[in-house]
Amino acid sequence: MTETISCPFCDPLERVVKSNDSAQMLLSDPRKVPGHTLVMPKRHVEKPWELTAEELQDIFALINFVEQRVVGKLGTGCDIRQGYKPFLKQDALKVNHLTFHVIPRAKDDYLYSVSEKYEEDLFAELDDLERDEVTKLLVD
Ligand SMILES: [Zn+2]
Repeated sequence: MTETISCPFCDPLERVVKSNDSAQMLLSDPRKVPGHTLVMPKRHVEKPWELTAEELQDIFALINFVEQRVVGKLGTGCDIRQGYKPFLKQDALKVNHLTFHVIPRAKDDYLYSVSEKYEEDLFAELDDLERDEVTKLLVD
């Protein structure tokens, strides 16, 4: 079903800022903050675990490049975010093509002030039952 929906990142035309053999990057539009960059495989991939070793290497080479370029200029740090959310429909803010968001950050920046400072209450203690269940899931 997803094959019938056109993908803006499979044919990004002039939006590509930099690329290597299997990955490319472009500025997010819309963006959260100046310098918000998207790094993705050139091939249409939706699930992170479908990336090849070469694609992972090429994607993280571009992520490292972006971070080194923006830290100290557009922020003092960066977030790298990747969300796999097949339960959301593709729209202007959600494209099915796997992307890694590189977002310049700084202490008490805009994203913190409008959103993340309210998320601090979401953290809960990890109890023994949950630790055991999730650890078992991850190691077995
Ligand atoms: Zn695509």
